[in-house]
Amino acid sequence: MPWCEACARFYNPNTLNDDGTCPSCGALVQAPESVVDRNRVPWHFWLLLAAAGGYLGWRAIQGLIALAGLV
Ligand SMILES: [Zn+2]
Repeated sequence: MPWCEACARFYNPNTLNDDGTCPSCGALVQAPESVVDRNRVPWHFWLLLAAAGGYLGWRAIQGLIALAGLV
């Protein structure tokens, strides 16, 4: 949680300026790199997406096998 010394208050990272400075007094509250990081998708999101895609793909194959078995 970004904390501004001058204003003595916490900020949500999204309410800070794009360069990580305080919207009220302009002091640097958070390093710009970590501000950029909030827009990056974490690696485990892609892992989860791949797992979900693999599972749904497998279920689709199972469904096709079941359909073929009914004919
Ligand atoms: Zn401030």
